Amino acid sequence: MSFVSFVSFVYLVSFVSLLTRRAFLAATGVATLIPARRARAARYDLVIKGGRVIDPARRLDRVADVAIEGGRIRAIQPGIASADAANVLDAAGRIVAPGLIDLHVHVGAADLTPASLLRDGVTSMVDGGSAGADNIDALVRVAQAAPNRVRIFLNVARTGVTGQGELMNIEAADVDAARRAIAQHREWIAGVKVRLSQNVAGDHDLEAVRRARLAAGPLPVMLHVGQTFSPLPKILERLERGDIVTHIYSPPPHSLLDDGGRVLPEVRAARARGIRFDVGNGRNGHITWPIVDAATRDGFWPDTISSDITGPGRTVRVFDLPTVVSKFLMLGMPLDQAIGCVTSRAAASVSAFKDLGTLRSGAPADVAILELREGDFEFVDNVDAKRTGHRKLVTSAVVMNGRQSL
Ligand SMILES: [Zn+2]
Repeated sequence: MSFVSFVSFVYLVSFVSLLTRRAFLAATGVATLIPARRARAARYDLVIKGGRVIDPARRLDRVADVAIEGGRIRAIQPGIASADAANVLDAAGRIVAPGLIDLHVHVGAADLTPASLLRDGVTSMVDGGSAGADNIDALVRVAQAAPNRVRIFLNVARTGVTGQGELMNIEAADVDAARRAIAQHREWIAGVKVRLSQNVAGDHDLEAVRRARLAAGPLPVMLHVGQTFSPLPKILERLERGDIVTHIYSPPPHSLLDDGGRVLPEVRAARARGIRFDVGNGRNGHITWPIVDAATRDGFWPDTISSDITGPGRTVRVFDLPTVVSKFLMLGMPLDQAIGCVTSRAAASVSAFKDLGTLRSGAPADVAILELREGDFEFVDNVDAKRTGHRKLVTSAVVMNGRQSL
C-alpha cells in the first residue's frame, strides 16, 4: 500500500464509524493492517462437525460440516478446518437438522415453558389458542421472555382454552375484541385458533369458523377438529388457502374418513386448494392408530407434525416433539419427509417463520442435533394403544441463533 492510499485509508476509517472494523477491513481488503492476533481470529463462531446434515427444504442429506457466524448459517461443506472455528461441536454419528418448529404447543401455563421445549430442539413454536383477547397480554410476555421464538395463534374465544369449553356460548367468539388484540400485538400473533369439538363449541362449530375467519383476515386460522357437531367437509368449505386443520387423525364422530375407511374426497380437495393438515398429537381425542393407518394407507400423510404439548403431556402420550416425529417414522414416513414436517413445511405455514426451517447459507442459525437411536421403542396413541417402533429421535444438542443452548 502506498503512503497516499494509507493516508486515505486512515481518513476513511475515522469517518466510517458505523461500519464494524471487521466488515470494513473485509470490504477494503487491507489485510496487512490487521493486527497479528486479529489475523488468527476464527472465521466462524461455531462449526458443527461431521454430522449427517438433513435439510429437506433443499433435499440435502449428506455428511458435512456446518459453519455459523454472526448468528447465521455461512457454509455447509465437508472438511471445514477446526482452526477456522472459535467453537467446535462434534456431531459425528448424529443428524444435523434445522431447528425444529412445533406449530401447536401450549405455553400459556407455568407448567410448560418455551425454554423446556428448546431442550427438545424446538427453536420456534406457535402457541395454539391458550389465550384469547382477554388474557393475551400475559402470553405475549411469555413469548417476549422466551429464549426461542414463540408466536401465538389467538383463540377466537376471549378466554382462550378453558376446561368447560370456551365456545359453548358462541358470543365468547368476539370478532372485534380479537381484531383489537391482533392489532395490538401484530408482532406476536400469527393467526387465529378455533376449537370446534362438540364439547368445546356445542352445535355452533360453523359459526365459530365464520367468526375465526373474520377475525383472522389475511392471517391463517388453525382449526381444532375431531368429534365436531358438523361433518368435516362442511367445516373445510369455509376455509381459505393457508388455513391449518389440526388433529387430522382424530377418531369419529366426523373423522377425515368415509364409512368405507377411505379419505373423504373433500379432504383431498381442500389440500389441493392450499389448506394444510397438521397432526396435533395431544393427549385426548386427537389421534388413534387405526385412523392414521387408514388415512396413510390411502396416501394421506400430514403436511406438518405438531405435538399439541401441555405440561401434563410431558409425561403422558406426547412427551416431546422428537417422540411425536418418531411415531411417524414407525408408521412408515421416510426420515427426510418427517423432518421436513417439523422444519421447512412448518416454516411455510407461518409468515413470521418464512426464513426458518432450513440450513441454507444466510438463514438464522437454528440447528437441532439429533440422535437416531435404534432398538425397540414403545409409542402410544391417545387411547394408550401400544406399538413398537425401531427408531427413535432424541435431541442431543441445540443451537439457537448461532449459540449452543444444549
Ligand atoms: Zn391444542
